[in-house]
Amino acid sequence: MPELPEVETTRRGIAPHVTDQRITEVVVRNRNLRWKVTPKLEATITGQTIRHVGRRAKYLLLETDSGTLILHLGMSGSLRIIDAGAPVAKHDHVDLVLGNGNALRFTDPRRFGSLHWTTRDPLQHRLLRELGVEPLGYELTGTYLYERSRGRKLAIKPFIMDSHIVVGIGNIYASEALYMAGINPRRTAGRVSRQKYALLAEVIREVLTDAIAAGGTTLRDFVNGEGKPGYFRQHLNVYGKAGEPCISCRVAIRETRLGQRSTFYCPKCQK
Ligand SMILES: [Zn+2]
Repeated sequence: MPELPEVETTRRGIAPHVTDQRITEVVVRNRNLRWKVTPKLEATITGQTIRHVGRRAKYLLLETDSGTLILHLGMSGSLRIIDAGAPVAKHDHVDLVLGNGNALRFTDPRRFGSLHWTTRDPLQHRLLRELGVEPLGYELTGTYLYERSRGRKLAIKPFIMDSHIVVGIGNIYASEALYMAGINPRRTAGRVSRQKYALLAEVIREVLTDAIAAGGTTLRDFVNGEGKPGYFRQHLNVYGKAGEPCISCRVAIRETRLGQRSTFYCPKCQK
């Protein structure tokens, strides 16, 4: 599933190719995405110029002068810049044809992605308005996590993966950040100290920033790319490493289930 770093890399990858481009045609080949694509979409956005590509959580925001197209990649979606005349494959559901002869193509085999148009503040859209803070912004601090966790009895890993608290911390990044902060993923969220949360906020930013940096090398894949953009070969310390020695203490990494998700940790380094 595209995680926040992949979505941010997609944003950076497509932005230079679509910004200030006029949408000359919209081709929707399959409206049955996670939510049905409105039949008004073509008439509404044809002729508009994309002014900016933003992001909130894992939603991409294609802003024009009269509104915003809110796009989610779902479980398997990807965006590429292609020649508008490029052959169409089975899962190429939507093309935004641009004035320069290229098209922004949305491909999504599992069709959990979505497209919504809004003329209002996109951050107040029903899909976005209840989201927690961005992990890369100044709002994610140890104090914020500490205060939001008081009285919470759930484990810290599902707590930091809750998008109402902070967005974009997927399973891999949660495991890696907790390892780097030396916090056992089963620890009760409400009993983790303010100092530990300060460290955790710092390493969350570090893990995600590193992933985005790793993704930077794949940016060329967004233009005429064939493969899957955005699945990064990032160095991982614990995720997927069950039975391998911890790089710090050499004790074997353990795997457990927590909130129905595979969870990896070092039993010695993470208290
Ligand atoms: Zn260890």
